[in-house]
Amino acid sequence: MSGWLQRSWRASLLRIALIIGLTVAIGLATGLLAWMLALCFAAIAGFHLWQLFALQRALLQKRRELPDFGPWRIVAELIRRRSDRDRDVRRRLLDALQAFRSAAAALPDGTVVLDAQGNIQWLNAAAARLLGLNPRLDQGTPIEHLVRHPRVIEWLAGDPQERALLDVPAPIDEKLRLSFRMISYGSDLRLLVVRDISQLLHLEQVRRDFVANVSHELRTPLTVLAGYLDAVEVEELPEWEPVLGDMRGQCQRMRHIVEDLLTLSRLDVQGAPAADVLPMDAILEELARDARALSREQHQIQVGQCEALSLVGSAQDLRSAFSNLVTNAVRYTPPGGEITLHWQRHPEGAAFAVVDTGPGIPEQHLPRLTERFYRVSTSRSRESGGTGLGLAIVKHVLMIHQARLEVQSEVGVGSTFRCVFPEGRVEAE
Ligand code: ADP
Repeated sequence: MSGWLQRSWRASLLRIALIIGLTVAIGLATGLLAWMLALCFAAIAGFHLWQLFALQRALLQKRRELPDFGPWRIVAELIRRRSDRDRDVRRRLLDALQAFRSAAAALPDGTVVLDAQGNIQWLNAAAARLLGLNPRLDQGTPIEHLVRHPRVIEWLAGDPQERALLDVPAPIDEKLRLSFRMISYGSDLRLLVVRDISQLLHLEQVRRDFVANVSHELRTPLTVLAGYLDAVEVEELPEWEPVLGDMRGQCQRMRHIVEDLLTLSRLDVQGAPAADVLPMDAILEELARDARALSREQHQIQVGQCEALSLVGSAQDLRSAFSNLVTNAVRYTPPGGEITLHWQRHPEGAAFAVVDTGPGIPEQHLPRLTERFYRVSTSRSRESGGTGLGLAIVKHVLMIHQARLEVQSEVGVGSTFRCVFPEGRVEAE
């Protein structure tokens, strides 16, 4: 107990003891001890009741300075201290809240707080600017009533677990591109983050155009160079034969890189692919035949499972993607290895798979295999005539067909490259 509390209690008890002592003395002197004591206790009780009433009134009136309530002063003082402490905590919390709100309001990305029903609870200035909303008037309104782009409405109604990033034109200006992202937090609140990605997309477009233009510009000089190299008569210059052979090889490699870069540029800008119907049994046989020709009898190449299903998509692009996978299997599997092609049912639709008994790929490389020019072993790739762009092309072709590439590999055992197609791209034969 602190000093003033002890002193107050001591003073109060002393006062009561004095009053009772005085009452007893007067009672004994007058012979009315019982009456005097009853009177004394009634007076003490009345006094305390009155003090309690005064304290209650002061508290109800929220008076900051409480008068001296005698023994009840202690209680009044404790209440005052607690309320001061609560007020401090409240002020600190309000300051922190205000600081957070100011920080969120100053964020360059649009931020909208939504409740479980999708009603707007709060939004910052950037959200108001990018989405054309009014921070005061639009509070409490469902977001889909205000942002009317069909893709946004579909995205908001979709499964929250599968909600990916959305990229749409801004409602206020068609030239601006916005990316939408939804984050769940608290018990049932959601945060909609809207970012202006116009600049980013513009830079990406500049990069794409640059690669496409450079590849295009290199194509003609390389064709001319290759033509001259082919025309040189080696018989007349025997000492130049190895040099010329090397030059032809490097020229051919550069032409392959340029062709692959141009294919990637075309796929980058391509919209929906053609809707050819591919008879997969014939295609698997054709791929196996080409692979045998490339392997020159060094591998065992066969068609495994082949379901009676056709694939719908661009025949040219899909053939080139499948051929890339089969060529890789032949190039990376040592002689004597086995390569099997499958066309199977899959829970999502159907899958084309190339299974080899090659060296396998260490796990840490798997996530980066489809990056442009990413190679597990640069020397092995170059030796076998690789450009480092094959799997990037496969990924792009699959992407425009709403399909995806799955790679399973175990070092020393082999690899499986599987293209998984959705149900919508598969037809019964
Ligand atoms: P590259 O032209 O170098 O083959 P890709 O994009 O086709 O380029 O393949 C990327 C890398 O993935 C290759 O360099 C190779 O290391 C690895 N790879 C691809 N297919 C296989 C395979 N079947 N077995 C082992 N490694 C493979």
